[in-house]
Amino acid sequence: MWSPQAPEDPLFGLMAAFRRDEDPNKVDLGIGAYRDDNAKPWVLPVVKKADDIIRNDPNLNHEYLPIAGLADFTSASQKLILGGDSPALKEKRVTSLQTVSGTGAVHLGALFLAKFYKPKSQRTAYFSDPTWPNHFQIFSNVGLSHKTYPYFSRQTKGLDFDGFYNSIQNADEGSIVVLHACAHNPTGVDLTQDQWKKIAEVIRAKKHFPFFDTAYQGFASGDLSRDGWAIRYFVEQGFELCIAQSYAKNFGLYGERAGCFHFVTAPSSDAQSTVGRVASQLAILQRSEISNPPAYGARIASLVLNTPDLFAQWEEDLRTMSGRIIEMRKALRSKLEGLGTPGTWNHITDQIGMFSFTGLTEQQVLKLREDSHVYMTKNGRISMAGLNTHNIDYFAKAVDKAVR
Ligand code: PMP
Repeated sequence: MWSPQAPEDPLFGLMAAFRRDEDPNKVDLGIGAYRDDNAKPWVLPVVKKADDIIRNDPNLNHEYLPIAGLADFTSASQKLILGGDSPALKEKRVTSLQTVSGTGAVHLGALFLAKFYKPKSQRTAYFSDPTWPNHFQIFSNVGLSHKTYPYFSRQTKGLDFDGFYNSIQNADEGSIVVLHACAHNPTGVDLTQDQWKKIAEVIRAKKHFPFFDTAYQGFASGDLSRDGWAIRYFVEQGFELCIAQSYAKNFGLYGERAGCFHFVTAPSSDAQSTVGRVASQLAILQRSEISNPPAYGARIASLVLNTPDLFAQWEEDLRTMSGRIIEMRKALRSKLEGLGTPGTWNHITDQIGMFSFTGLTEQQVLKLREDSHVYMTKNGRISMAGLNTHNIDYFAKAVDKAVR
């Protein structure tokens, strides 16, 4: 058996290079995981609490979950993302399966579309340019072709709304449009509610199929409904759509692989039978791929989501994480402005979520790595969670040096 050598995953390669670096001042801004002010992984206090409760439960066992996962988890996940009073839930137009985190949810959705959405020649998936690189791999692995729509403007370091809108308008009717619900990865640039409404209009006019990827609900603004607004708006507008939901970031359950895939059908007299048929096919796909999902992370999330006082504590923990990141954005911008670093830096505080697209060029990124032992992806993306009160001065000065 022969296969060509595949390139190393750029992000995991970056992590390895960081680990090899022995400089005491090294800074890791590549990681897509939250770190506390001491650059350490943070177990959410509410997760610790739920973990203790579950571990001490004398009835805990390690049986298989059902194919679609833990029912209490999937139903709480529906309410979380769609809102408890969602018309789609009242009308039973949603079917959901627990997945192997957000990646597994994106994959299950893509696989389902590859099998049942339109003939092959008539369906292209559109991703934002840039997007989470795994979108390309996941969709092409299941045989879906893809293109990109403009998203990030290098000039403003904000949204290229006209480019986005026009590209969706010019796409073949019935294309799949992959949308980041909030805290766009890698740019940190989100749409305003008005912009979402306009994009919804053009998606409706062109009969496109929206596919939402939500990996940062509550983590972006600290407010779960605000971060879920776009999805709720599309559902209220009666779209048929799917949602890939991850609990990696907002629960800090990265390695536990807790996630959910939701398929929402449009309102119609046979919506419930459509949902039933979709659910039956999704179950077959799930069974052949993972048989049934991993239990532990979903148990933790489910306990928190279904217990009011734990849920309130979770919201507090979300505010701790998002609040620290927002503070780091403010501090970085003000330090760069204070140093008189060439360029404008308002985009650092305009952007939201885990990542910021700094606008640093590949050459500057490499210079930062060589001269200052600062690690970030070549596209100039930094993980804001890698900054803290101990390294932010060092980082701002390193950037200042690299851009002069
Ligand atoms: N989609 C996007 C846009 C992401 O940023 C991520 C996390 N990096 C994911 C999906 C899925 O991550 P996970 O599989 O760890 O839940």
